[in-house]
Amino acid sequence: MHVFDVVIAGGGPAGSACAWKLRGEGVDAAIVDKAVFPRDKICGGWITPQVLNLLEMDPGEYARGRVLQPISAFRTGVIGTEAIETSYARTVSYGIRRREFDEFLLRRSGAQIFEGVPVATIARNGGAWVLNGSIRGRVLVGAGGHFCPIAHAMGAANTHESPVVAQESEFAMDGRQRAACRIRAETPEVYFCRDLQGYGWCFRKADVLNVGLGRADRRRLSEHVSSFIKSMAPRIGFEIPPPRGHAYLLYGSMPRKIAGDGWLLIGDAAGLAFPFSGEGILPAIESGIVAAELIASGATENYGARLAQRFDTTPGWITGLGARIPHSVLTKIAPRLLRSRWFARNVVLDRWFLHSNI
Ligand SMILES: Cc1cc2nc3c(=O)[nH]c(=O)nc-3n(C[C@H](O)[C@H](O)[C@H](O)COP(=O)(O)OP(=O)(O)OC[C@H]3O[C@@H](n4cnc5c(N)ncnc54)[C@H](O)[C@@H]3O)c2cc1C
Repeated sequence: MHVFDVVIAGGGPAGSACAWKLRGEGVDAAIVDKAVFPRDKICGGWITPQVLNLLEMDPGEYARGRVLQPISAFRTGVIGTEAIETSYARTVSYGIRRREFDEFLLRRSGAQIFEGVPVATIARNGGAWVLNGSIRGRVLVGAGGHFCPIAHAMGAANTHESPVVAQESEFAMDGRQRAACRIRAETPEVYFCRDLQGYGWCFRKADVLNVGLGRADRRRLSEHVSSFIKSMAPRIGFEIPPPRGHAYLLYGSMPRKIAGDGWLLIGDAAGLAFPFSGEGILPAIESGIVAAELIASGATENYGARLAQRFDTTPGWITGLGARIPHSVLTKIAPRLLRSRWFARNVVLDRWFLHSNI
């Protein structure tokens, strides 16, 4: 039997941040992940600078041998219409590759790592948790993403959830593709669906291209993705590999119970992505750090309140608007709103994407 203070199921950004913070607090943790790292994760790989600050990461050190693409401008609009460009005089975000980023965080966490080990059984024995009959911890942290086995064992499978559904394709471009591609690395492109139920993106990170689309409404996702990719053909300049899909929950949309006697959920397992942008890496890391602090101080009963304090500051997702305003009216006002330079900078980018208000 392997014995730890804390056992974390899932070694994504949430699990690794939690283990890293626990180690800083002198608490012994193990991470159990079904994948062997480096592993791929379906994700745009856009991060806000707070991510690096919270993890006390030195951008220069991280960028050695890895992709860390500075972002200082955006092109925004409605799919199929003209875009407008908003520039900043500084780096406002970064682009990373999840296979590199997640492995870096995992190895740096200082936790004992069980890789290639799916969580198959969860038992309680003498007040402690035991995973797979052999990994034991006083506290159990569920960090296994949207389909986290701990979340499901604690009842998530029985709740009615409406996740964001998304598809994307990420690949390294060859010389011909690089020459044809008109997407600029420091300027990601974001185009909203006319019904404001989601958006598509084209995001170049050095020589890697990431193209995808996510929607709050799961119906006809593939059609929306295909028509977005078609509309971007002149800017992409070549055919992209078929996209792959995944789902996750936005904060405020989840009826999941996120903590109980001796256990907590962090990151996507808890459904914490920012409602407007769908950004999930920052909330995953923040929740991992908060969970670690509370575990170390023996105050895990405050976990829900701490998260609510931090994340309950943004009302609804853009699709809240989509749900309240008739479709015929929305399709008329959305292109007009998104053509406004003021709206693009102050609302879409500063508030929704860069969350300068929180
Ligand atoms: C298409 C798409 C694009 C996105 N783009 C962005 C973006 O650009 N920026 C952003 O901030 N967020 C983005 N997100 C959201 C972001 O990817 C997630 O919010 C983030 O990965 C959550 O991190 P996590 O650590 O909670 O979970 P994950 O990163 O999903 O990690 C969970 C880990 O648990 C492991 N695991 C799962 N099941 C088991 C099991 N049974 N046993 C053991 N291990 C298990 C997995 O192998 C995985 O390593 C995007 C999401 C999607 C779907």
